[in-house]
Amino acid sequence: MTKSKLKHLDISDQSNNSGNSRRSFLKKATAAAAVTLTGTNLITSAAESPVKGTAPQNEIPWYRRITRWGQTNITEKDPIIYDIGWWRNHWKNTQTQGVIVNAGGIVAYYPTKIPFHYKAQYLQGRDLFGDLCKAAHEDGLVVFARMDSNRAHEELYKAHPDWFAIDENGNPYRAADLYITCVNSPYYNEFIPSILTEIENLYHPEGFTDNSWSGLGRESICYCENCKKSFRDKTGKEIPKAKNWDDQVYRQWIRWNYDRRLEIWDLNNRTTKAAGGPNCTWAGMNSGSISGQARSFRDFKEICRRADIIMLDHQARSDTSGFQNLADTGKIIHGILGWDKLIPDSMAMYQQGRPQFRVASKPVAEAHMWMIEGFAGGIQPWWHHVAAYHEDRRMYHTAEPIYRWYKANEEFLINRNPIGTIGVVWSQENTDFYGRDDSEVLVDQPWRGIIQALIRARIPYQPVHADHLDRDASKFSLLVLPNIGSMSVNQVASVKRFVERGGNLFATGNSSLYNESGELLNDYALGDLFGAHLVSKPRKEDISSMNRTLHTYLRLNPEMRSRVYGPQTGTEPAVIGERHAVLKGFDETDILPYGGLLNSIKTDSKAKVIMTFIPEFPIYPPETAWMREPKTDIQGLILNTLPNGSRIAFMPADIDRQFARYNLPDHGNLITNIIHWASKDNIPLVVEGAGLVDCNLYQQPGRMILHITNLISEGTWRQPVNEYIPIGPLSVKIKLPKDIKGEYLNLLVSGQKISAIVKDGWSQFQINSILNHEVIVLT
Ligand SMILES: [Zn+2]
Repeated sequence: MTKSKLKHLDISDQSNNSGNSRRSFLKKATAAAAVTLTGTNLITSAAESPVKGTAPQNEIPWYRRITRWGQTNITEKDPIIYDIGWWRNHWKNTQTQGVIVNAGGIVAYYPTKIPFHYKAQYLQGRDLFGDLCKAAHEDGLVVFARMDSNRAHEELYKAHPDWFAIDENGNPYRAADLYITCVNSPYYNEFIPSILTEIENLYHPEGFTDNSWSGLGRESICYCENCKKSFRDKTGKEIPKAKNWDDQVYRQWIRWNYDRRLEIWDLNNRTTKAAGGPNCTWAGMNSGSISGQARSFRDFKEICRRADIIMLDHQARSDTSGFQNLADTGKIIHGILGWDKLIPDSMAMYQQGRPQFRVASKPVAEAHMWMIEGFAGGIQPWWHHVAAYHEDRRMYHTAEPIYRWYKANEEFLINRNPIGTIGVVWSQENTDFYGRDDSEVLVDQPWRGIIQALIRARIPYQPVHADHLDRDASKFSLLVLPNIGSMSVNQVASVKRFVERGGNLFATGNSSLYNESGELLNDYALGDLFGAHLVSKPRKEDISSMNRTLHTYLRLNPEMRSRVYGPQTGTEPAVIGERHAVLKGFDETDILPYGGLLNSIKTDSKAKVIMTFIPEFPIYPPETAWMREPKTDIQGLILNTLPNGSRIAFMPADIDRQFARYNLPDHGNLITNIIHWASKDNIPLVVEGAGLVDCNLYQQPGRMILHITNLISEGTWRQPVNEYIPIGPLSVKIKLPKDIKGEYLNLLVSGQKISAIVKDGWSQFQINSILNHEVIVLT
């Protein structure tokens, strides 16, 4: 390929601009067609049934009405054995409305005419994609043509070596037998768009997805001529020689990579919409992990701003975050996508997670629980099998019953607004530029600790993006910043405005101590609110000590001990006093286990120090296990009430991270106490009764919807779950909005209809038993 041709194919700023105007035209056209669901008065217009809506179905684009998905991920061997008739029957049995069918990219499943577009080894002239697409359309299903476009076979590499990613030694990046393609090359600018166009022209699938559209991840730097030129053109710099987060050029390289993935997103959408009309969306696929998105240069906020639908590739739980992770993920994405759009999630019917067995059935309970928590977070089901023929046939029975339930109750499960007075703040830039290579420790663990404490306390919450605080924060009583180290000047200003308007704040760890590029500041940007300031600039984050458990403790409000029991030391008088509300339940202890480190800070005169640090002392041998320094004035928790009444809790101690790692109830209870105090108990839900449950509360016109997921099971402590264990009774109180009477309850899982007692604006009722979940509609 010549240089001039390359320049022509490159997505320059100019062509991007024209793309933008075209895109906005297409968006307007799509929006006009979908006005009943996309208008600002979304919920009102969808009052009767979101699927039926108030307009004829055909006016609502398919990506806003198709909710039950299925995918048979085709292997190269499948074309000779694929039994389309059997699968059509399976679509019918599972009430599936849309299918994701492998089309092209790494492997083509149709007789492509594009040179070097590799056909499946066993295709043998069959048009498998074409046959499946036709069958699906005959059955009234929509089709997502599924691409996989980040690598290619040797034949293409030999023909176009300049399309491939190159390492610092000039060698191509490889994955097994395949070669990794470069996102800045004609492979993405020309080859993939030509395939998209060919497929659309031949078969008219409704849309396109792509398994690995964003190409080479963050861990590998490409030094091909296309990349060198593009980076030089955009920044005037050379591509960095190695990873160095402290190097401004490396951070520019990160942002340049993000921008390029958005260009690919836009180019592919322009291509498919040009070929298939304004509703022929290209949706890629995205991860449910923000750290995963960051490692793949996928800017979730910007993607959601562009996307018609999010095809989520988040197939199973991990032992660290549990089933509740999927509800949390759904709420994170809806927060940036809008609650009027759909998020189907690829849900493995095979043993995915830990361990992985592609063609063995996942225990049904494990598969269903992941789906149930998805529904609780506004996610739609998408059954997923790898290969078209299985000797373990049990997996064919997994989806059917739960799809039937979903279909019967769908009107309550989409197009609704979440209720919750606690907003938990996040941003992907914090994951990138504060988390860097340690986002699991610095970002994900503090998030999980806060989320898990909220779930455990049955407190409904909503994730809120730090850039959306001015738009979204007014509905919250309290904002939580779980160690949001990196904050932009605008984000800091938004938090301050929220507090000035009377909002409350709970920040942990190093929140606001770094700028948006991850550079350490001289003081917390929110220090005036915290009532706390740095004494001296701390050293860099000590990740190795964060990964260890130090034998440290926190001392509780030492001036307010209420010793009533236990041997006396003879040196310390018992002090009787009332402890602060955030220490509720800790009357019989003066210390809490901690595990982390703390630096001294200085506090404003009005700020109250509630907990102080007890430095590390030996564990072994037991004879040495005594506190060398029982008291310090190093602050672990600071409370500050502002003149306008706003309550600010600042917890430098990383209790949130510790709770995520070790699940100590003291840590969870402390976080919950702080949230109750800081939010002034402005929490619209009270659920009492034994068990670990995830409560998610929503509103539609004239009704509220409460999901209670039972997270207790025979497999509570690790995957997979094989058997449910019912809990109950649970007593529930919901604070009623003005337009809801709250007298009648429809239980969508057990099928019961019961009534509630309404008193002082609260609806009260009892749920006798919950096996795996219950969805309560309150009218
Ligand atoms: Zn490159």
